[in-house]
Amino acid sequence: MELFDKVRILAAAAKYDVSCSSSGSTRSNKAGGIGNANAAGICHSWSADGRCISLLKILMTNVCAYDCVYCINRVTSDVERATLSPEELADLTINFYRRNYIEGLFLSSAVFGTPDLTTERMIKALELLRNQYNFSGYIHVKVIPGTDPKLLTRIGLLADRVSVNVELPSREGLQLLAPQKKVESILKPMGFIHQQIQEAREDRLVSEHKTAFVPAGQTTQLIIGATPDRDLKILKLSESLYKNYKLKRVYFSSYVPVVSHPNLPSLFTSPPLLREHRLYQADWLLRFYGFSANEILDSSHPDLSLDFDPKTEWALRHLDQFPVEINQASFEILIRVPGLGVTSAQRIIAARRAAAIDFELLKKIGVVIKRARYFITCKGRFAGVTDFDPTRIRQNMLADGPDTKGYRENDRQLSLFAPIPLGITSC
Ligand code: SF4
Repeated sequence: MELFDKVRILAAAAKYDVSCSSSGSTRSNKAGGIGNANAAGICHSWSADGRCISLLKILMTNVCAYDCVYCINRVTSDVERATLSPEELADLTINFYRRNYIEGLFLSSAVFGTPDLTTERMIKALELLRNQYNFSGYIHVKVIPGTDPKLLTRIGLLADRVSVNVELPSREGLQLLAPQKKVESILKPMGFIHQQIQEAREDRLVSEHKTAFVPAGQTTQLIIGATPDRDLKILKLSESLYKNYKLKRVYFSSYVPVVSHPNLPSLFTSPPLLREHRLYQADWLLRFYGFSANEILDSSHPDLSLDFDPKTEWALRHLDQFPVEINQASFEILIRVPGLGVTSAQRIIAARRAAAIDFELLKKIGVVIKRARYFITCKGRFAGVTDFDPTRIRQNMLADGPDTKGYRENDRQLSLFAPIPLGITSC
């Protein structure tokens, strides 16, 4: 098979993996080397369907021994198969880099025989890039659940970032749709990598000559909508992954139906893009706004609202904590007000050191109160809202216009190579 055809098949097969954001890694070029990575991450560009394509994002092979029912590359699927040799992959990457097509590599693979065999081939490609071509650019590698820790150690010394994809948010979901993947075989490598990262960081505190291990940290991906798992479960899982494994990011990927199976949503189901967007908003609240999963959702409200962002929905259910007086509230309270972010809260705190703030002043310092006005007072006064009734606030806010930022449930994810429907590969 021609190299072009292999790239066409394997790049298309990799496109649904969203855990490839690149940032946080710094490596300067050595004499005679090529490429570098910096802490701000490589430059991103985005494909028409909103996915990151600035990395060469490719599978080593789509020949798979596993049978995940949601995946078009599963062993029982009748699709065109291709496999890159380590030499082909390294040559391809370096040639694309030299032509300025890419700034790094995102390498994943189907399970070629066994996780270890597959990982050996990936390591060989990375060793060629790093040691033969002296490539110092950004590399993100997908770790296959069940890989031997010795191989993880080798891969962690070559890659900037790794990810072990959790994929399905529950044990039951995995059992139903990806029976060869086990929760333990996913969490074990994640835990091992976390431990190695910690140890390498401690070593580097003692000596900066110690080799970095996965300097840009690890991430994971969760598929949304393939199983009936509720948002509460997904958020609690994300929260525990951040806490226990110090993940850099948990990425959410709307399930795109490409396979017909009784255990899967119908092929005519639209990918839940707005739900994915809401999960990212909630994830932001977990990471930067001091919320816990149990505050955002609970057993009586197990799913995120599609009408309002998660912070607004939380505020509407906790009106006892409002209104917030702008001249008195702490930073931590201000950032919990719908519509107020970190920058607005900082501006408010700086401005009120000089004078008591009224709505005029809020406007002058650039704080937009379109949403916040329902939840705040300035000098004890509301901004034109005469009552504090939850139903009325909800109606008024809905009348203000939808908070969907252009996301609609009927939006369909576009294929890079339309019109051929291409498969989802997530291992
Ligand atoms: S998701 Fe990965 S492991 Fe599962 S069938 Fe697809 S390529 Fe194979």
